[in-house]
Amino acid sequence: MSRSAEFIVTASIPEVRQAVATARVNGCTIGCVPTMGALHAGHMSLVEECRKRTDYVVATIFVNPSQFAPQEDLTKYPRPLERDLQLCREAGVNLVFVPEVPALYPPGFQSWVTVEEVTKPLEGLFRATHFRGVATIVLKLFNIVQPDVLCFGAKDYQQQTMIRRMVRDLDLPVEIVVCPTVREPDGLAMSSRNVYLSSQERASALALSRALQLGQDRLEAGERDLSRLVAEMRSVLTVHPKITVDYVSLSDPDTLIELTEPQAEMVALIAARVGPTRLIDNRVLRISM
Ligand code: AMP
Repeated sequence: MSRSAEFIVTASIPEVRQAVATARVNGCTIGCVPTMGALHAGHMSLVEECRKRTDYVVATIFVNPSQFAPQEDLTKYPRPLERDLQLCREAGVNLVFVPEVPALYPPGFQSWVTVEEVTKPLEGLFRATHFRGVATIVLKLFNIVQPDVLCFGAKDYQQQTMIRRMVRDLDLPVEIVVCPTVREPDGLAMSSRNVYLSSQERASALALSRALQLGQDRLEAGERDLSRLVAEMRSVLTVHPKITVDYVSLSDPDTLIELTEPQAEMVALIAARVGPTRLIDNRVLRISM
């Protein structure tokens, strides 16, 4: 079966089920890219990868309230829907699912998915209910779309780690594909939240990718003292008066447990507030042992 050329936009769960069922009957494999919209080249790289792997691509655009804490940016999160739909159409997405909140969280909603250990450190220490919201919405979208493949970005490292864990633990019949972080030419990881940055904050925000680069460079130069390395990475951030560091961590790539001793593969993770905007970034660091 060659890939489908249709383009459907719907807020209706039954309509998604119907369109996907028809695509399946026609012999298509199904891929899904969950997003919160305000699409950029990072999101579109997931769509492209999903198109390579499957015949019928569903993108979901839903600013999921349950993954935002009360003081976070839910109401001001950018929602340029027309532009997003245009990008999806041009990228060859077949169906864009744009549900309303009550369709996914009906009155009386009380069923949550909690992935335990891997969500406790890092983001878990700063965003207590965030991952419960993400795991729940991803499982719901999986059940609605029933894709063969789900694509996520390495940009949200702890999120993709949690989702891979959930898929294994709950025997979900889906392949998880994790795509590399897409960056601006100067190194800033693309994020829908970058639009919040003033030009001065945008310049300071480069410190995140610079700190990660420093981590790799220092390891290559022979540094093996991880606490000294973290302190050096931190200082790349803290020289900027507009940056407040939430964490800089060198962790095990699978368990996300913070490392005290070097190992062949580590993940460096950073979260920092640049002015009022909270940004995250990460990089897998490798050394020959
Ligand atoms: P979001 O809309 O922020 O929830 O992100 C939707 C998906 O896009 C998630 O799987 C993210 O990890 C992924 N994503 C966001 N930014 C990037 C990026 N710069 N590069 C690659 N993937 C990204």
